[in-house]
Amino acid sequence: MQSVRGMRDVLPEEARRWRRVEDEMLAKLYGFAYEEIHIPLLESTDLFARGVGEATDIVEREMYNLNDRDGESITLRPEGTAGCARVLSDAGLLYNQTQRVFYRGPMFRYERPQRGRYRQFYQIGAEAFGLPGPDIDAELIQLGTVMWRSLGIDDAVTLELNTLGSQAARGAYREALVAHLTPQKDELDDDSQGRLSTNPMRILDSKSAATQRLLNDAPLLIDYLDQASVEHYEGLKSLLEDLQIAYVENPRLVRGLDYYTDTVFEWTTQALGAQGTICAGGRYDGLVEVIGGKPTPAAGFAIGVERVLLLHEELHQEVHGETLNAAVDVYCCVLEPRLHGWVLDFVQQLRQELPELRVRVHAGGGKLKNQLKRADQSGADWALFFGEEEVQHNRVAVKHLREPGDQVAMELEALVQHLTPKEN
Ligand code: ATP
Ligand code: MG
Repeated sequence: MQSVRGMRDVLPEEARRWRRVEDEMLAKLYGFAYEEIHIPLLESTDLFARGVGEATDIVEREMYNLNDRDGESITLRPEGTAGCARVLSDAGLLYNQTQRVFYRGPMFRYERPQRGRYRQFYQIGAEAFGLPGPDIDAELIQLGTVMWRSLGIDDAVTLELNTLGSQAARGAYREALVAHLTPQKDELDDDSQGRLSTNPMRILDSKSAATQRLLNDAPLLIDYLDQASVEHYEGLKSLLEDLQIAYVENPRLVRGLDYYTDTVFEWTTQALGAQGTICAGGRYDGLVEVIGGKPTPAAGFAIGVERVLLLHEELHQEVHGETLNAAVDVYCCVLEPRLHGWVLDFVQQLRQELPELRVRVHAGGGKLKNQLKRADQSGADWALFFGEEEVQHNRVAVKHLREPGDQVAMELEALVQHLTPKEN
């Protein structure tokens, strides 16, 4: 049997990197005092139709919709922001207070699978509610920057920045854009022709070279912004300058999702081909109201974790100097089957003393030679040998597998000292 198209199986080697890279990002979220929430995988279809927007790629053709047994239309979440806003709004946590939260987990979109683009993919998203100013936009961007630096991928990513202005300003701009493009409608790509009436700003985002050429002398949104949006944008840029965070202004940057207002940003890389955006976000002051809550300013971002992993893998063999090859640090060879219970107990005491250590006990018996072969294949640096002689004296024989030297017998206390990583 094969997996469903667009689903990915993650094997131990990748899962190991995943765990390290994700932990690194979560540590930064905690450091910035964001709180984790869990949001359901299934929501009513209506939440996304409203919260993401009817005229978006996601709602038009990417959602996994299904009918529940009672006939309700439900959808596998294609993104986390709408669900996050719903969860907090339902719990009354958006009323007269601010929230800074994060969520993580798989999202589902029916897309054409390719490297860095899957039908099930994993996002970590951070969202801040109740905060209208550019200060929180800057904090979110700083948070991303700090993550990339800790992962050692900061040199390979560029921050792209734009503002979409208020919904009113966008309305005026949308009209100007449509007026500009309508006479040349036939020269637009098919998707963009459709969007001219449904979601014209998405045309700016078109991948078609012909369409991009037609856009060269199109009106610019920046000329339509109201004073408040200009000040918000200038305020954000000045904070980024204070933080010495470099950015590139990209007037064509629009998000696929409808609920964005003012700030939009993406981190992109040249290293992953067409799937170059590892993280995207911005401000979405309109969202909470659209899904039935009180008007609430909000901003956030979502990280495409598989893309971060691909980039990390291109750039690094290791995380924090720790090689990602080995899954096992210590392999325990049990020379007599009847000692096995004693060994399991002893090894557990070792694990308690050194919780970071990954200790595997040989199972299935067999000759020492075969057990040693397994020890070697596991990638472990150390082997422990439990024989009659050792067990009688409450000891174990230890040997380094990757350096010359004899095996030495010792008790638990000395073993703990022996296996404690030396500070360099
Ligand atoms: P794209 O333009 O690549 O389709 P998007 O605008 O649809 O991205 P968002 O909805 O903003 O993406 O999601 C945030 C991030 O999640 C993206 O920047 C990307 O890193 C990741 N992402 C989105 N769709 C996928 C997918 N199908 N597979 C893997 N990662 C994805
Ligand atoms: Mg997309």
